[in-house]
Amino acid sequence: MNLASKAEYPSCGAEAVGGLAGCDEVFSRLIGREFADPVLFRAHRLTVDAYCLQHTEKYMISSKSAAAHLMGICWSLEVGESLHLPPELKRFVDGPHVFVRVAVPPQLRRGKINITHLNSLSEPREYLVASREWAQSVWLAWSSAWEQTRAWVREAQKANYHSHKATPLFGAGNAGTSGKG
Ligand SMILES: [Zn+2]
Repeated sequence: MNLASKAEYPSCGAEAVGGLAGCDEVFSRLIGREFADPVLFRAHRLTVDAYCLQHTEKYMISSKSAAAHLMGICWSLEVGESLHLPPELKRFVDGPHVFVRVAVPPQLRRGKINITHLNSLSEPREYLVASREWAQSVWLAWSSAWEQTRAWVREAQKANYHSHKATPLFGAGNAGTSGKG
C-alpha cells in the first residue's frame, strides 16, 4: 500500500469505502437497518461501540465518550446483551467521575474486522453473529484498556448496587437488567 492509497483508508482499514466519509455512510445505513428491524436492533450497541472504538478521532474525542464506548462494549461482551447503554453505566458516565484518558491503539490496528463485515448480510442471525465477531476483534485490539475498563464497570455497578440494590455485581452472575431510576 503506498501513501496515496493509504490516505483513502479510514482508521478501521475498510477498503474501497471512500475514506472516513464513506465509512460513515455505511455506518448510517446499517444503523438505519437496525432501527427498522427489532432482531437487528439487538446488535445495535455492539455496532455503535465497535464503530466508535475504530474511529476514535471522530467519535471518542472526550475521555468521557471514550470511557462510555469502552464500558459499553465490555458490558455487551462480558456482562450481558443490552439494547441500550445500561442505566448503571449511563448514571456513572453522566455522574461526577473524571475519566482518565486511555491509550488508543494506532490507526489500522483497531481490530482485524471492520464494518464492511456486516455490509452485505441480509439474514438477521448472520448479522448478529457477524456484529459480535466484529466487536470481539475490536475489543481484542483494545486489550491494553481492559483492566481500566473492567474497573470502571465494577465501579458503576457498585455505585448502582449501593443506591439501588438491583443488579448483581460484575462477575457475580447474570446482569444486564435492572430496575428503572
Ligand atoms: Zn471505518
